Amino acid sequence: MFTIGCHLSIAKGFAAAARDATSIGANTFQFFTRNPRGGKAKELDPADLAAFAAAREAGGIDCILAHAPYTLNPASAKPETCEFALQTLADDLLRMEQIMPGQLYNMHPGSHVGQGADVAISKIADAINAVLQPQQTTLLLLETMAGKGSEVGRTFEEIAAIIERVELDDHVGVCLDTCHVWDGGYDIAGDLDGVLEEFDRIIGLERLRAIHLNDSKNPLGAHKDRHEQLGRGFIGFEALAAVTNHPALRDLPFYLETPHDDLSGYADEIERLKSARQ
Ligand code: FE
Ligand code: FE
Ligand code: ZN
Repeated sequence: MFTIGCHLSIAKGFAAAARDATSIGANTFQFFTRNPRGGKAKELDPADLAAFAAAREAGGIDCILAHAPYTLNPASAKPETCEFALQTLADDLLRMEQIMPGQLYNMHPGSHVGQGADVAISKIADAINAVLQPQQTTLLLLETMAGKGSEVGRTFEEIAAIIERVELDDHVGVCLDTCHVWDGGYDIAGDLDGVLEEFDRIIGLERLRAIHLNDSKNPLGAHKDRHEQLGRGFIGFEALAAVTNHPALRDLPFYLETPHDDLSGYADEIERLKSARQ
Protein backbone atom coordinates (compact mmCIF):
# COMPACT_ATOMS: atom_id res chain seq x y z
CA MET A 1 0.00 0.00 0.00
CA PHE A 2 1.19 3.51 -0.86
CA THR A 3 0.70 5.80 2.15
CA ILE A 4 0.89 9.31 0.80
CA GLY A 5 -0.33 12.70 2.01
CA CYS A 6 0.75 16.23 2.75
CA HIS A 7 0.79 18.86 5.43
CA LEU A 8 -2.75 20.17 6.09
CA SER A 9 -4.32 22.79 8.35
CA ILE A 10 -6.50 21.68 11.26
CA ALA A 11 -7.94 25.20 11.66
CA LYS A 12 -11.40 23.81 10.76
CA GLY A 13 -10.95 20.71 12.90
CA PHE A 14 -9.59 17.19 12.47
CA ALA A 15 -12.62 15.85 10.58
CA ALA A 16 -12.33 18.63 7.99
CA ALA A 17 -8.61 17.90 7.59
CA ALA A 18 -9.32 14.19 7.02
CA ARG A 19 -11.93 15.11 4.38
CA ASP A 20 -9.41 17.49 2.75
CA ALA A 21 -6.90 14.64 2.63
CA THR A 22 -9.41 12.33 0.96
CA SER A 23 -10.38 15.03 -1.54
CA ILE A 24 -6.79 15.26 -2.87
CA GLY A 25 -6.19 11.52 -3.10
CA ALA A 26 -4.25 11.29 0.18
CA ASN A 27 -4.62 8.51 2.75
CA THR A 28 -2.64 10.24 5.51
CA PHE A 29 -1.77 13.82 6.50
CA GLN A 30 0.50 15.88 8.71
CA PHE A 31 -0.66 18.78 10.89
CA PHE A 32 0.78 21.26 13.37
CA THR A 33 -0.42 20.49 16.89
CA ARG A 34 -0.67 24.24 17.54
CA ASN A 35 0.55 27.50 16.07
CA PRO A 36 3.92 26.55 14.53
CA ARG A 37 5.51 29.44 16.39
CA GLY A 38 4.30 28.06 19.72
CA GLY A 39 1.49 29.13 22.00
CA LYS A 40 -1.50 27.32 23.40
CA ALA A 41 -3.20 24.47 21.56
CA LYS A 42 -6.91 24.66 20.76
CA GLU A 43 -9.14 22.67 23.11
CA LEU A 44 -10.02 19.25 21.66
CA ASP A 45 -13.68 18.94 20.65
CA PRO A 46 -15.16 15.48 21.33
CA ALA A 47 -17.73 15.91 18.52
CA ASP A 48 -14.95 16.77 16.05
CA LEU A 49 -12.90 13.77 17.21
CA ALA A 50 -15.88 11.45 16.67
CA ALA A 51 -16.44 12.94 13.19
CA PHE A 52 -12.68 12.55 12.58
CA ALA A 53 -12.87 8.82 13.32
CA ALA A 54 -15.75 8.48 10.84
CA ALA A 55 -13.94 10.53 8.17
CA ARG A 56 -10.82 8.37 8.58
CA GLU A 57 -12.86 5.22 8.23
CA ALA A 58 -14.52 6.59 5.08
CA GLY A 59 -11.21 7.73 3.58
CA GLY A 60 -9.06 4.75 4.58
CA ILE A 61 -6.79 6.92 6.72
CA ASP A 62 -4.97 4.60 9.13
CA CYS A 63 -2.05 6.80 10.02
CA ILE A 64 -1.41 10.48 10.85
CA LEU A 65 1.67 12.50 11.68
CA ALA A 66 1.65 15.43 14.10
CA HIS A 67 4.37 18.08 13.90
CA ALA A 68 5.58 20.01 16.96
CA PRO A 69 5.95 23.80 16.65
CA TYR A 70 9.24 24.30 14.81
CA THR A 71 10.38 27.04 17.17
CA LEU A 72 10.57 24.65 20.13
CA ASN A 73 14.13 24.41 21.35
CA PRO A 74 14.75 21.99 24.21
CA ALA A 75 18.49 22.72 23.73
CA SER A 76 18.12 26.45 24.40
CA ALA A 77 20.54 28.20 26.78
CA LYS A 78 17.52 29.96 28.37
CA PRO A 79 15.82 27.91 31.12
CA GLU A 80 12.39 29.39 30.31
CA THR A 81 12.69 28.30 26.65
CA CYS A 82 13.64 24.76 27.72
CA GLU A 83 10.74 24.71 30.18
CA PHE A 84 8.31 25.83 27.45
CA ALA A 85 9.61 23.09 25.14
CA LEU A 86 9.11 20.48 27.86
CA GLN A 87 5.56 21.59 28.64
CA THR A 88 4.59 21.72 24.97
CA LEU A 89 6.05 18.27 24.20
CA ALA A 90 4.36 16.71 27.23
CA ASP A 91 1.01 18.36 26.42
CA ASP A 92 1.18 17.41 22.72
CA LEU A 93 1.96 13.77 23.54
CA LEU A 94 -0.99 13.62 25.94
CA ARG A 95 -3.28 15.15 23.30
CA MET A 96 -2.12 12.65 20.68
CA GLU A 97 -3.47 9.84 22.88
CA GLN A 98 -6.90 11.50 22.60
CA ILE A 99 -6.72 12.55 18.94
CA MET A 100 -5.70 9.09 17.67
CA PRO A 101 -3.61 6.61 19.67
CA GLY A 102 -0.68 4.75 18.16
CA GLN A 103 0.38 7.52 15.78
CA LEU A 104 3.49 9.57 14.97
CA TYR A 105 4.67 12.87 16.48
CA ASN A 106 7.56 14.64 14.80
CA MET A 107 9.88 17.28 16.28
CA HIS A 108 12.92 19.22 15.14
CA PRO A 109 15.66 18.23 17.62
CA GLY A 110 16.71 21.84 18.39
CA SER A 111 19.50 24.37 17.92
CA HIS A 112 22.65 24.58 20.03
CA VAL A 113 22.81 28.41 19.77
CA GLY A 114 26.55 28.51 20.34
CA GLN A 115 26.73 25.99 23.17
CA GLY A 116 28.06 23.27 20.86
CA ALA A 117 26.31 20.19 19.52
CA ASP A 118 27.38 17.95 22.44
CA VAL A 119 25.68 20.12 25.07
CA ALA A 120 22.59 20.36 22.86
CA ILE A 121 22.43 16.61 22.30
CA SER A 122 22.31 15.87 26.02
CA LYS A 123 19.76 18.65 26.67
CA ILE A 124 17.50 17.31 23.90
CA ALA A 125 17.79 13.75 25.26
CA ASP A 126 17.04 15.02 28.80
CA ALA A 127 13.88 16.72 27.52
CA ILE A 128 12.76 13.56 25.71
CA ASN A 129 13.46 11.49 28.81
CA ALA A 130 11.36 13.91 30.84
CA VAL A 131 8.29 13.65 28.58
CA LEU A 132 8.20 10.02 27.41
CA GLN A 133 5.85 7.76 29.37
CA PRO A 134 6.03 3.95 29.25
CA GLN A 135 2.27 3.64 28.62
CA GLN A 136 2.19 6.17 25.78
CA THR A 137 1.29 4.74 22.36
CA THR A 138 2.56 7.67 20.27
CA LEU A 139 5.96 7.30 18.64
CA LEU A 140 8.17 10.40 18.94
CA LEU A 141 10.14 11.08 15.74
CA LEU A 142 13.28 13.20 15.43
CA GLU A 143 13.46 14.97 12.06
CA THR A 144 16.71 15.04 10.07
CA MET A 145 17.65 18.71 9.64
CA ALA A 146 19.36 20.80 6.94
CA GLY A 147 21.96 22.25 9.30
CA LYS A 148 20.78 25.84 8.94
CA GLY A 149 22.14 28.10 11.71
CA SER A 150 23.09 25.96 14.71
CA GLU A 151 20.50 23.21 14.08
CA VAL A 152 21.26 19.85 15.62
CA GLY A 153 20.35 16.73 13.64
CA ARG A 154 22.01 17.51 10.32
CA THR A 155 24.13 14.39 10.56
CA PHE A 156 22.92 10.87 11.20
CA GLU A 157 25.55 10.74 13.97
CA GLU A 158 23.84 13.57 15.87
CA ILE A 159 20.43 11.90 15.61
CA ALA A 160 21.95 8.59 16.77
CA ALA A 161 23.67 10.33 19.70
CA ILE A 162 20.31 11.70 20.91
CA ILE A 163 18.54 8.33 20.59
CA GLU A 164 21.42 6.58 22.41
CA ARG A 165 20.71 8.74 25.47
CA VAL A 166 16.96 8.09 25.51
CA GLU A 167 15.86 5.59 28.16
CA LEU A 168 12.50 4.54 26.63
CA ASP A 169 14.08 4.32 23.20
CA ASP A 170 11.39 1.99 21.81
CA HIS A 171 9.16 5.13 21.84
CA VAL A 172 11.52 7.00 19.50
CA GLY A 173 12.04 6.93 15.73
CA VAL A 174 13.24 9.16 12.89
CA CYS A 175 11.51 11.18 10.16
CA LEU A 176 13.75 11.72 7.13
CA ASP A 177 13.13 14.97 5.23
CA THR A 178 14.46 14.66 1.67
CA CYS A 179 15.06 18.43 1.31
CA HIS A 180 16.83 18.57 4.66
CA VAL A 181 19.19 15.60 4.11
CA TRP A 182 19.98 16.92 0.61
CA ASP A 183 20.75 20.38 1.99
CA GLY A 184 22.67 18.63 4.75
CA GLY A 185 24.95 17.00 2.16
CA TYR A 186 23.48 13.50 1.67
CA ASP A 187 23.20 12.77 -2.06
CA ILE A 188 19.84 11.00 -2.24
CA ALA A 189 19.62 11.79 -5.97
CA GLY A 190 23.00 10.34 -6.98
CA ASP A 191 23.42 7.60 -4.39
CA LEU A 192 20.22 6.74 -2.50
CA ASP A 193 21.49 3.24 -1.68
CA GLY A 194 24.69 4.68 -0.21
CA VAL A 195 22.78 7.21 1.94
CA LEU A 196 20.44 4.49 3.23
CA GLU A 197 23.38 2.19 4.00
CA GLU A 198 24.92 5.02 6.01
CA PHE A 199 21.60 5.64 7.79
CA ASP A 200 21.34 1.94 8.58
CA ARG A 201 24.91 1.73 9.90
CA ILE A 202 24.64 4.82 12.12
CA ILE A 203 20.98 4.97 13.22
CA GLY A 204 19.42 1.71 12.00
CA LEU A 205 16.78 1.64 9.26
CA GLU A 206 14.26 0.12 11.69
CA ARG A 207 14.15 3.58 13.36
CA LEU A 208 13.00 5.25 10.14
CA ARG A 209 9.22 5.66 10.40
CA ALA A 210 8.20 8.53 8.10
CA ILE A 211 9.46 10.54 5.11
CA HIS A 212 8.96 14.24 4.37
CA LEU A 213 9.03 14.30 0.57
CA ASN A 214 10.23 17.68 -0.69
CA ASP A 215 12.39 18.98 -3.49
CA SER A 216 15.03 21.60 -2.60
CA LYS A 217 15.56 25.12 -3.94
CA ASN A 218 19.28 24.68 -3.28
CA PRO A 219 22.16 22.44 -4.38
CA LEU A 220 23.51 19.49 -2.38
CA GLY A 221 25.04 20.54 0.95
CA ALA A 222 23.70 24.12 0.89
CA HIS A 223 22.49 24.01 4.55
CA LYS A 224 19.55 26.24 3.61
CA ASP A 225 16.21 24.37 4.15
CA ARG A 226 14.07 25.89 1.40
CA HIS A 227 11.49 23.40 0.13
CA GLU A 228 10.48 23.29 -3.54
CA GLN A 229 7.70 21.58 -5.49
CA LEU A 230 8.61 18.09 -6.71
CA GLY A 231 10.59 18.31 -9.95
CA ARG A 232 11.22 22.05 -9.69
CA GLY A 233 14.27 21.85 -7.48
CA PHE A 234 17.75 20.35 -7.40
CA ILE A 235 16.71 16.84 -6.31
CA GLY A 236 14.29 16.26 -9.17
CA PHE A 237 11.09 14.27 -9.61
CA GLU A 238 12.77 11.02 -10.70
CA ALA A 239 14.95 10.88 -7.59
CA LEU A 240 12.00 11.64 -5.30
CA ALA A 241 9.82 9.02 -6.98
CA ALA A 242 12.72 6.59 -6.51
CA VAL A 243 12.60 7.36 -2.76
CA THR A 244 8.94 6.26 -2.69
CA ASN A 245 9.78 3.09 -4.63
CA HIS A 246 12.90 2.03 -2.73
CA PRO A 247 12.38 -1.42 -1.12
CA ALA A 248 13.57 -0.14 2.28
CA LEU A 249 11.25 2.89 2.19
CA ARG A 250 8.18 2.04 0.10
CA ASP A 251 5.99 0.95 3.04
CA LEU A 252 6.63 4.11 5.08
CA PRO A 253 4.17 7.02 5.11
CA PHE A 254 5.22 9.94 2.83
CA TYR A 255 4.32 13.59 3.47
CA LEU A 256 4.62 16.48 1.02
CA GLU A 257 5.67 19.81 2.57
CA THR A 258 6.02 21.54 -0.76
CA PRO A 259 5.03 25.19 -1.31
CA HIS A 260 1.54 25.51 -2.88
CA ASP A 261 -1.13 28.19 -2.77
CA ASP A 262 -3.96 25.67 -2.54
CA LEU A 263 -4.72 21.97 -2.19
CA SER A 264 -4.81 21.33 -5.96
CA GLY A 265 -1.00 21.61 -6.08
CA TYR A 266 -0.77 18.71 -3.62
CA ALA A 267 -3.42 16.75 -5.52
CA ASP A 268 -1.26 17.02 -8.68
CA GLU A 269 1.89 15.88 -6.90
CA ILE A 270 0.08 12.95 -5.28
CA GLU A 271 -1.32 11.90 -8.64
CA ARG A 272 2.12 12.07 -10.29
CA LEU A 273 3.66 10.03 -7.46
CA LYS A 274 0.92 7.42 -7.74
CA SER A 275 1.58 7.13 -11.49
CA ALA A 276 5.30 6.68 -10.77
CA ARG A 277 4.66 4.06 -8.11
CA GLN A 278 6.07 0.66 -9.10
FE1 FE B 1 9.77 19.81 10.07
FE1 FE C 1 10.17 18.41 7.11
ZN1 ZN D 1 12.21 22.15 6.15
